[in-house]
Amino acid sequence: MNDCLFCRIIAGEIPSTKVYEDETVFAFRDINPQAPTHILVIPKAHISGCDGVTSENSAVVAHIFEVIPQIAKAENLTGGYRVVSNCGADAGQTVPHLHFHILGGKQLALDMA
Ligand code: AMP
Ligand code: ZN
Repeated sequence: MNDCLFCRIIAGEIPSTKVYEDETVFAFRDINPQAPTHILVIPKAHISGCDGVTSENSAVVAHIFEVIPQIAKAENLTGGYRVVSNCGADAGQTVPHLHFHILGGKQLALDMA
């Protein structure tokens, strides 16, 4: 059994609030939002994180970055938004399945450290 949290969300074994889905990408609302709009965009194929991106699977990352502005538009993030991917312990990655946070809906703090 796949015990990856986000793989289980994609499989529908754990509920989520879906905002977008296609053949290779899934997006849902973060359970602990850090901004008025906080969405996670993930590949359906399990990739551990940024370090797991290779020439074999990077097409889905390009596709995610096509999908992100579509989601931002659907969410009316007309003032802008931030895209973040935490990679590894020092960055605070807590779920080892590649994900991109979309944050928006307010003036975001600039301090990234
Ligand atoms: P990171 O800390 O960058 O690995 O991001 C993981 C994100 O997943 C955090 O922002 C969590 O709030 C979010 N998260 C954890 N469990 C769930 C869940 N069941 N549904 C939605 N978001 C979740
Ligand atoms: Zn996974």
